[in-house]
Amino acid sequence: MRALCWHGKSDVRVDTVPDPKIQDPGDAIVRITTTCICGSDLHLYDGFMPTMEAGDVLGHEPMGIVEEVGKSVTKLKPGDRVVVPFTISCGSCWFCERKMYSLCDRSNPNAEIARKAMGQSPAGLFGYSHMLGGFPGGQAEYLRVPFADVGPVKIPDGLPDEKVVFLSDIFPTGYMGAENAEIESGDTVAVWGCGPVAQFAIQSAWMLGAGRVIAIDRVPERLEMSRRHGKAETINFDEVGVYDQLMEMTKGRGPDRCIDAVGAEAHSTGAVDAVLDKAKTAVGMATDRAHALREAIMCCRKGGTVSVPGVYIGYPDKIPFGAAMNKGLTFKMGQTHVQRYTQPLLEKIQSGHIDPSFVITHTVPLKDAPQMYKTFSDKKDGCIKVVLKP
Ligand code: NAD
Ligand code: ZN
Repeated sequence: MRALCWHGKSDVRVDTVPDPKIQDPGDAIVRITTTCICGSDLHLYDGFMPTMEAGDVLGHEPMGIVEEVGKSVTKLKPGDRVVVPFTISCGSCWFCERKMYSLCDRSNPNAEIARKAMGQSPAGLFGYSHMLGGFPGGQAEYLRVPFADVGPVKIPDGLPDEKVVFLSDIFPTGYMGAENAEIESGDTVAVWGCGPVAQFAIQSAWMLGAGRVIAIDRVPERLEMSRRHGKAETINFDEVGVYDQLMEMTKGRGPDRCIDAVGAEAHSTGAVDAVLDKAKTAVGMATDRAHALREAIMCCRKGGTVSVPGVYIGYPDKIPFGAAMNKGLTFKMGQTHVQRYTQPLLEKIQSGHIDPSFVITHTVPLKDAPQMYKTFSDKKDGCIKVVLKP
């Protein structure tokens, strides 16, 4: 089959690779009809993630048609149309029983590597390095889905792929980002980033009772989408200082809830950060640039909450933990427990409450994926969310 493979920093290619096979009685093979490029893929594209190997198949936002199921699969059959969560979860370990699916204890066959880096191992993820399981991803014609009775969501007829595919990741991720912010009725919520995840965090902040949403980015089309679709007020960090602007907008108190929907790709917004960036480039270190997180901590009102759906890898530096401690902030974060949210969010789509397809700006065949990685990474050509059709 054809699949999008990682070959190194800024080097992804569509290669011919072996078709996936059922390896375990709980597996399913899904023929992919729609799959997307995610901001998380950019961390791999930018070489931030160790434990990648040349030829690894990328992608973790897939949906398609079930082709084949293993002997023990009871909930799926060939022909079913499914969205596949990016988190691989067994459904029955201590963590899955508590609905902490992205922390599944049994789905990462390379748990030893993860434990060395993190103390414990989170769940395996599709297309996200050998440390997180080494599972081939879904930017491909076919995908092997382990624990097929636990993750995939059956999609009723009549809903096009474009409306439901984001249940695989970014809609639940934006929702959990807002839920983790512990929004109380009328709160002012500031969202760093206006990328696809942020767009769903903004939508979800309103659903959870926000009184005001302020979104921060510098890409004009993304700021515009936050205003038009997200009904957010916006700050362009290239034009004004974010801290001063937020203080002015909140009469000096700061936003009640701050959501970092940027993560490791953050661009510098200040002089100190610029020095840091140069230092890192000089020594060629692929570490995190936690500019958005630092700013969220400094801006958040005393006693407020900082929610971090943005992905960090390794050792993000200069986190003002003293400020966080003395201001009494609450932190919540994590890879999304996707399976927890798929059913309720599918219902919101079915009832017409939300049509997630508003984020899509580019739809291309799989063969054009390498060019689209560059366009998405450069934030050129009005690119906000890329959908691939294998
Ligand atoms: P994206 O790269 O398209 O969007 C990031 C946005 O942040 C861009 O628009 C960029 O201009 C903006 N930005 C950069 N620096 C900034 C700064 N200093 N202040 C404000 N905005 C800044 O990515 P995305 O697909 O929206 O994903 C966002 C983050 O969410 C990524 O880190 C991704 O890995 C993460 N993510 C997490 C999960 C999860 O389970 N927690 C799932 C999916 C994605
Ligand atoms: Zn993703």
